[in-house]
Amino acid sequence: MRAEFLLLIVSVAFSLSAFAAELEPSGITQVVLLGTGTPNVDPERSGPAVAIVVNGTPYLVDFGPGVVRRAAAMSPSWGGEMTALRTSNLKHAFLTHLHSDHSAGLSDLILSPWVMGRDEPLELYGPSGTADMANYVLKAYEADIRYRVDGLEPANDRGWRVNVHEIDDGVVFEDDNVNVEAFRVRHGTWTNAFAYKFTTPDRVIVISGDAAPDARIEEQAAGADILIHEVYSMEGFAKKTSDWQKYHSNNHTSTHELGEMAGRARPKLLILYHILFWGSSEETLLLEIQEKYDGEVVVGNDLDTY
Ligand SMILES: [Zn+2]
Ligand SMILES: [Zn+2]
Repeated sequence: MRAEFLLLIVSVAFSLSAFAAELEPSGITQVVLLGTGTPNVDPERSGPAVAIVVNGTPYLVDFGPGVVRRAAAMSPSWGGEMTALRTSNLKHAFLTHLHSDHSAGLSDLILSPWVMGRDEPLELYGPSGTADMANYVLKAYEADIRYRVDGLEPANDRGWRVNVHEIDDGVVFEDDNVNVEAFRVRHGTWTNAFAYKFTTPDRVIVISGDAAPDARIEEQAAGADILIHEVYSMEGFAKKTSDWQKYHSNNHTSTHELGEMAGRARPKLLILYHILFWGSSEETLLLEIQEKYDGEVVVGNDLDTY
């Protein structure tokens, strides 16, 4: 009995140290999963959004519904420890594509940080169509903006503004903290669906957005510290009707397909997000991946930090 117990301790210690050797904790770059959900309105999984925090500055990738409140949950104002994720610090956002599950938080991201004191425009990067989307949101809230700016509310006249930068393949942003590269990925018939590669002083992070299996993601994620990739369960897929199976196999990536991709790219850590479980468990999802992949892989949950 005691020998078995010791063996368990040793094996846990071994697996933890093996993990530590793969991906060292970083004092410079943190990845915070603000939302790991999909269009399905799971209350435990907010709409897709990831914060890459570098030297205390947050950079968002996608802004699904709930994004601002999930960020607030990490900030000291609400009991968290990440000053970087104070609402008024949300100033840079990178949109993968215009699908509503990834972008329905745009009005929230434009307006709430401003109301909470952001005194600079939102710098918004995204594919063709992003400028129209931002302008329509501003038009929709024109009365609110005018009331706050022109009325008794001591609001600034800058924080509601949006500087839109429509992107193409290549480096789309660079500062002292990050180099951000966008590259197109296959996502059904969308012509402008992008993934992003963040290179920081100490980490390389690739985020798929929505994508069917794509060799470009493998290339960019080769040897990366973290690959954050969307996925759907094979077990759940088998229960879908044929029209939905056709849709999903053209637009998204199965566990087996992702396992094979990760086997070629070999990131130090694979994080699953934007997960279509369709009734399957996290354990089943991981087992399906592990049938094809022996590297480190975790199911991402909202507010997990790496
Ligand atoms: Zn999509
Ligand atoms: Zn999506």
